[in-house]
Amino acid sequence: MSSIAANLAALRARAGNATLIAVSKTHGITAVREALAAGQRVFGENRVQEAQGKFPDLRRTYPDIELHLIGTLQSNKAQAAVALFDVIQTLDRPALAEALAQAIQKTGRRPRIYIEVNIGNEPQKAGIAPDQTESFLASCRQIGLQISGLMCIPPQGQDPTPYFLRTHELQERLALPHLSMGMSQDFKIALACGATEIRIGTAIFGARE
Ligand SMILES: *Cc1c(COP(=O)(O)O)cnc(C)c1O
Repeated sequence: MSSIAANLAALRARAGNATLIAVSKTHGITAVREALAAGQRVFGENRVQEAQGKFPDLRRTYPDIELHLIGTLQSNKAQAAVALFDVIQTLDRPALAEALAQAIQKTGRRPRIYIEVNIGNEPQKAGIAPDQTESFLASCRQIGLQISGLMCIPPQGQDPTPYFLRTHELQERLALPHLSMGMSQDFKIALACGATEIRIGTAIFGARE
């Protein structure tokens, strides 16, 4: 068994009912193919252009790939993102909501969309402030944009537990089905706090350059 296949098997056993998103950013086609051969179908990328270079080809062989965008999206790439991704996890501002609504109308494609919540209220971080998420959700719906989940990245160097718990509370209060949280370092805590999806790169593919 390749190390990627072994890592996936171990992570799947831990993930239970949660979806394991294999974050393949910076890793080449060979690594992605190894994961596909091991049965993995859900992948995450943080850049539109990098994903465009990797996935359209792979989808010819594996039409059931589910591709998640987990990095910041520029409004001028909204249409390309809607055309390529099945899930866009990083809706973090009103202008992007507008751009996504337009892109969906134009392309006829309807990816699942999650709001990225800046759960630690960190000034340098993308995302909607927790206390503004409910009104942002309402304004998205007003322009016809359906939202089906939340995603968060807790502050670094602190216990993520309270941040994961707060995001879970928010997800339940807003009655959204999906909750994306947890990475290689903290996914066990995220699962204990109610994550429905974990985003794992390093623990599957090894360190990035
Ligand atoms: C890179 C990345 C991940 C994966 O991180 P690892 O620590 O390698 O598991 C998860 N989520 C986001 C938003 C990322 O950018």
